[in-house]
Amino acid sequence: MHWCYANLAMAHAALNSGATAYGRSHFMVRARLLKGLNEGTMAVGSLVEDERLKFLLPRACCYCGADGRLSVDHLIPTSRGGLDSGDNIVWSCGPCNSSKGATDLLRWYAGRGEFPPLLLLRRYLKLAIGYCAVRELLGVSLAEIPDLPFDLGSVPQAFPAPGGLVLWRVPLGSVEGQQRQAAPGT
Ligand SMILES: [Zn+2]
Repeated sequence: MHWCYANLAMAHAALNSGATAYGRSHFMVRARLLKGLNEGTMAVGSLVEDERLKFLLPRACCYCGADGRLSVDHLIPTSRGGLDSGDNIVWSCGPCNSSKGATDLLRWYAGRGEFPPLLLLRRYLKLAIGYCAVRELLGVSLAEIPDLPFDLGSVPQAFPAPGGLVLWRVPLGSVEGQQRQAAPGT
């Protein structure tokens, strides 16, 4: 998960710089963050920035961008053990909500042949890493990890080129500049 989070920071930096391919500076962002996370000198960002964004953005389905007939959805389903907490709640339209159901977010995206918006993946990873951190599971070998509310096997190990990525399903508008300043690794 640290590898994926470091890749996410790399992709975020590349998107922010308008690059069409990953370059040396983006790889350095990834390398520095991965090293820091693994050595404990850097930490995954808190969910404060993600929650702030949720307040600022217009209401829209976080999966497809539709803005009608929205309901709240647990990003990590409570039926799988996801928490019934504010930071696990996102806006979803009816069709996406029923399509996703209790399926793991990343497995659901993989099944659709899509890559999740980076800021949605960021929230998911922060929740998943936080879940493991409080249970002291981050250094545990895969064979010894108990059942988790998310699917470790679906965490992407490679990211598409920046041109195939979006930060969010709908344009971020005026908050995008703030996101650019906040990236990467926050
Ligand atoms: Zn939707």
